[in-house]
Amino acid sequence: MPREVIDLPPLAPGLVPRLSVLRFGEADRGPKIYIQGALHADEAPGTLAAHRLAERLAALPGEAICGEIVIVPVANPIGLSQRVLGLHLGRYALEDGRNFNRGYPDIAEAVIARLEGRLGSHEAQNTALLKATLRSVLAAQAPAEPVPALKHRLLLLAIDADWVFDLHCDAEALPHLYTQPGFVAEFAPFARLMGARAILTAEASGDHPFDEAISVVWERVRAAYTLHPLRRGGIAATVELRGQQDTEPQFAERDAEAILGFLTRIGVIAGERPRLPEAACEPTPLAGCSLIEAPATGALQWHVPLGTDLKQGEVIAGIIDAASGQSTAVIAECDGLFFARSQLRQVFQGQKLGKIAGREPLRSGPLLGP
Ligand SMILES: [Zn+2]
Repeated sequence: MPREVIDLPPLAPGLVPRLSVLRFGEADRGPKIYIQGALHADEAPGTLAAHRLAERLAALPGEAICGEIVIVPVANPIGLSQRVLGLHLGRYALEDGRNFNRGYPDIAEAVIARLEGRLGSHEAQNTALLKATLRSVLAAQAPAEPVPALKHRLLLLAIDADWVFDLHCDAEALPHLYTQPGFVAEFAPFARLMGARAILTAEASGDHPFDEAISVVWERVRAAYTLHPLRRGGIAATVELRGQQDTEPQFAERDAEAILGFLTRIGVIAGERPRLPEAACEPTPLAGCSLIEAPATGALQWHVPLGTDLKQGEVIAGIIDAASGQSTAVIAECDGLFFARSQLRQVFQGQKLGKIAGREPLRSGPLLGP
């Protein structure tokens, strides 16, 4: 399996984090697909799915891959190294407390300016020029510090991809994905193949996550140059492969199979296109996703399992403060599917406990959790 190793700036003298990049196929034979696992580090299902996918791709004859597939199975070696008193903390960088999936650069204006007067009437040539410009504008902004450099390097690997699959997981969850409303039709077959129980959409969810740093720049460049044909690219989704504990081999196999099936459907892998299962959900707005908040401090008891179709006002959990003898009900804020929840059972007032995929917008401003 062709494996490229990219050294990042050292965390300390002698301590160099590395990205392992696997490449399949050839760039000039078709679309570029970028897949990474576990941007929040402690997300083994994403890594395992990416690893299994790479094994499956390595077993294919070279001519079966009509394009380029780039896989980074362990996207966050810095986050993986963050162990404190035996606990692994992978969501935020310890050095500054920032989420590893926020704060990616917006290079749209720089790319639009660089393309001024250079696009013609040939779609393939325009798209190749756009891809080269995305790479060169981003490459010129390389930061020196390890965490920004990690984010920059991942983005540089993905920025010119036609399709991007950012494989995450929640704490405890059903399979679901986040994408832009304009990509729902593109990702609908994949959502069916992976058995997604929720598809959460937002034009821009706020705080510049990885997938949007790619999709937004492609869409803005296309909007700025409507007179010049440009192929659609940067079609990106954040894919949540259940919960952190869901690492059974059959899940990785199923997820790798879903991605392979989708790549076959879009012609990147030669072979018979798999039949699509029934859709397991309709898209819902990310602004309608209720973030269940703890109304009290104490020991949490869930009353309903994940997958419950909730009604507004329904009691979904109880919080017991055994010291005072007080118990407090946790109430569903809206109708919708209960699809994700925290792994915590000792909880504090105000803490986020879970998510309900509601159909009507409830929130505005930054829509993702911190
Ligand atoms: Zn994540």
